[in-house]
Amino acid sequence: MADLVIRGGAAVTPAGLQPADVVIASGTIADLVPPGSPVGAPETVDATGCLILPGVIDAHVHFRTPGLTHKEDWDHASLAAVAGGVTTVLDMPNTLPATADADSLMAKAGLVAGHSRCHYGFYGALAASNLTCLPGLAAAGVLGFKVFLGETTASLPPPDDGQLLRAWQVTAGLGLRTMVHAENAAIIRLATAAPEGSVPAGGGDVGSLLAHGRSRPPVAEVEAVSRACLLAEAAGAPIAIAHLSTAGAAQVVRRAKGEGVDVRGETCPHYLLLTEQEVVTLGALAKVNPPLRSAADRDALWQAVGDGTIDQLGSDHAPHTPAEKACGDLQQAPAGFAGVQNSLPLLLGDPRLSVRRLVELLCEGPARNWGLWPRKGRIARGADADLAVVRPVPGRLPPRQWSLHPDSPVLRCRPARAEVLATVVGGRTAFRDGLPCGPATGVWLRP
Ligand SMILES: [Zn+2]
Repeated sequence: MADLVIRGGAAVTPAGLQPADVVIASGTIADLVPPGSPVGAPETVDATGCLILPGVIDAHVHFRTPGLTHKEDWDHASLAAVAGGVTTVLDMPNTLPATADADSLMAKAGLVAGHSRCHYGFYGALAASNLTCLPGLAAAGVLGFKVFLGETTASLPPPDDGQLLRAWQVTAGLGLRTMVHAENAAIIRLATAAPEGSVPAGGGDVGSLLAHGRSRPPVAEVEAVSRACLLAEAAGAPIAIAHLSTAGAAQVVRRAKGEGVDVRGETCPHYLLLTEQEVVTLGALAKVNPPLRSAADRDALWQAVGDGTIDQLGSDHAPHTPAEKACGDLQQAPAGFAGVQNSLPLLLGDPRLSVRRLVELLCEGPARNWGLWPRKGRIARGADADLAVVRPVPGRLPPRQWSLHPDSPVLRCRPARAEVLATVVGGRTAFRDGLPCGPATGVWLRP
């Protein structure tokens, strides 16, 4: 007996676009049947004119629980997720306290339980201060680790190269991938003291706006990505480079993949859709680390998306309060902004991306990278019933936002190209016709 049937849409399956009714029972995809087949179910979703996609797996979010819930909380963030067709999020460990040992992981999971409309998994921190805690974090259920090679919001001191090599010998044995925030802290320190490049005469707003980008020059990313690939190869450890922002760093990942290093590449919609020009226009709202780059870097990232160097898109959802963002001085303003609701609506229908390639980047890639494939990330008989029903609507105004602090430079500058009509999480509709449905039934995903 079916619980739910999605009728009349075109399902994006690993084999391609397939007109089909999707039959859901007991939380899984029971069948794909020819449109109009007589299947009875207590609930139906009319997907006429719509695409049915696997639910988006956003493997890079900062939902701010615990300790930073004035910036974002799990109820708002997980509602924003399902409003954007996201059915699973993987949350970063730089909270207060950080997710740095098994106890902090269990405490975080306790706070999230019952508050998530989407499924969720957690990263454990990998820092100089918690190197002995990695096996405990793995046993307690992290899906991977996150290392910050520079400073971050929580007190997570970056490991030195020796510590990182040793830690990756451990994570290789644990069979878990590490996501790397790859920027060289020493280069950033020096460039912050004396930014390279000319600041426009008189300094003024434009000069100070561009100073942040110049304080984190491309070589800071290229060096850190190179070092990460080298050490991961030596340790035999699987890694992923978070939020690639430069042509040079994408080229390092391309070369390392070609040489057989187990490295995956992530970028974010803002690096594909914006440039440093938006920092000049929008100021602190567009401040993010790594910073928005040149048009040449953006174009190189599109090339890396096209040739498979980049295999995952994450939103890096990291909201701050408007007051924090408007503190006056760009150097003091916090980096990051909301995004979990918007990756799919901003990119579906982009002429540079086929629907199949978009599903690879938003669903299949993240599922493979973090141990969720083949249960999640695809539409097939027996897979989990995590689905997004979307209607392409070119040039549509931004839909209602659900994050606690949803402002986004991308949404200000680029049109949403698709409307999420319904999101199905674990076989139940979690969002439909512009509103959340039912209780928060997302579950904690562990290996
Ligand atoms: Zn991040």
